[in-house]
Amino acid sequence: MFGSRLAIEAPQRNARIRVTYHTAPTASGLQWLEPSMTEGKQLPFMFSQSQAIHARSWVPLQDTPGVRFTYSAHVASRPDVMVLMSADNDPNAAKDGDYTFKMPQPIPSYLLAIAAGDLVFKPISARSGVWAEPSMVERATAEFADTEQMIAATEKLYGPYRWERYDMLVLPPSFPFGGMENPRLSFITPTVIVGDKSLVSLIAHELAHSWSGNLVTNASWKDIWLNEGFTTYVQGRITEALYGDEMAEMERQIDQAGVKKDMAGMSPADQALLLPALTGRDPDEALSEVAYVKGSWFLQFLEQRFGREVFDPFLRGWFDDHAFQSADSDQFVAYLKKNLLAKNPNVVRPEELDAWLNQPGIPAFASKAQSRTFSNVDTARIAWRGSALLPNRQVAGEWGTHTRCISSRAWATRSSPNSWRSWMRRTTSPARRTARSPCAGIRWRSAAATWTRARPRASSSSASAGAS
Ligand SMILES: [Zn+2]
Repeated sequence: MFGSRLAIEAPQRNARIRVTYHTAPTASGLQWLEPSMTEGKQLPFMFSQSQAIHARSWVPLQDTPGVRFTYSAHVASRPDVMVLMSADNDPNAAKDGDYTFKMPQPIPSYLLAIAAGDLVFKPISARSGVWAEPSMVERATAEFADTEQMIAATEKLYGPYRWERYDMLVLPPSFPFGGMENPRLSFITPTVIVGDKSLVSLIAHELAHSWSGNLVTNASWKDIWLNEGFTTYVQGRITEALYGDEMAEMERQIDQAGVKKDMAGMSPADQALLLPALTGRDPDEALSEVAYVKGSWFLQFLEQRFGREVFDPFLRGWFDDHAFQSADSDQFVAYLKKNLLAKNPNVVRPEELDAWLNQPGIPAFASKAQSRTFSNVDTARIAWRGSALLPNRQVAGEWGTHTRCISSRAWATRSSPNSWRSWMRRTTSPARRTARSPCAGIRWRSAAATWTRARPRASSSSASAGAS
């Protein structure tokens, strides 16, 4: 799991050292898909997943988020596949099996990424677009049409987007997670392409990483809440800016219910934001909803206490002051005390700060998300269970993917099949009744956890399809 050290003796202190190496079919960071596992079923597909510590399985490097590097690459592949990297992908590149890349902004190793397959490009704006299999690219571009507005909304809050292009790569249906924030080229699951933009908070999330995580990086994996917690917070702000507070509130409420459920099965130490050193532990195993949801809940708490006019510039300052650097939790806490708490005394008590950072669970004084729409669904549910009265057609017609997630969770097991069907007919459009569980689309992070637990085995039979 941790790999082994590569030691090179260089008594002359050479300025450059060339390492010749090849990866193996068993590399945990590379996934090789047979044509049958793609949408088009014509060409094989290959992609990388370096986070957290899989970059070392396909490149010899200093595989820690505390070290950054720029890179260039020359990739040869079979001529009928397009190769992309977390670098300066050219939207007009000819598909010829010969590709060169440069990544001028320094990145940590977990953001090194490559993909190859039957891929075409469709622009969304001058600096953003979608790479996908030909049969998927139109639908994906329509679903993610708001991406440029998302970039603009985030820039307004936290300063300029510093990575030049922001493109998205839609992976084949067998991609086992939600998304991966590879810089300049987020990797995206096709399961969020549902036709009504209801699950594009995934794009907001991956884009938000361009500030939290990719720009200001957790110095070690125990500090992952600085990455995922901040990103989940920024994601909520983007969702609110584009789709309104109610949509952001629904997503917060789903998240908050999820983290409380998860915490019930966790050790007290793992429920704190400030984790002890992960010595001997796989960082993938230590990553939980605590980093995402408790982390963002803490930032919401600070936002509510200090107000946006104070908190927004503070957070922007954190990103600006640590751009293209790594930072650990102690650095953030010191920065918070100096730049927010000391400048605005008596707003947050030391024991409140301690409860968020060091104690298990969610502090009792944290304010809970309460969506109006979900309250309406609850009222309708009580009427339905009490007197079999279905909700007003017009009201139910406005309910979307999130509402169905909540209602299917709450009642799927408790109601009789017949009355359940009549509820679903009233609250769900015909096109969606056969769709996969809406909760699976919303809680795309759980897919990442599945990858962690059952990392797919590499197959050697299609190795010739990929880059070398
Ligand atoms: Zn994330």
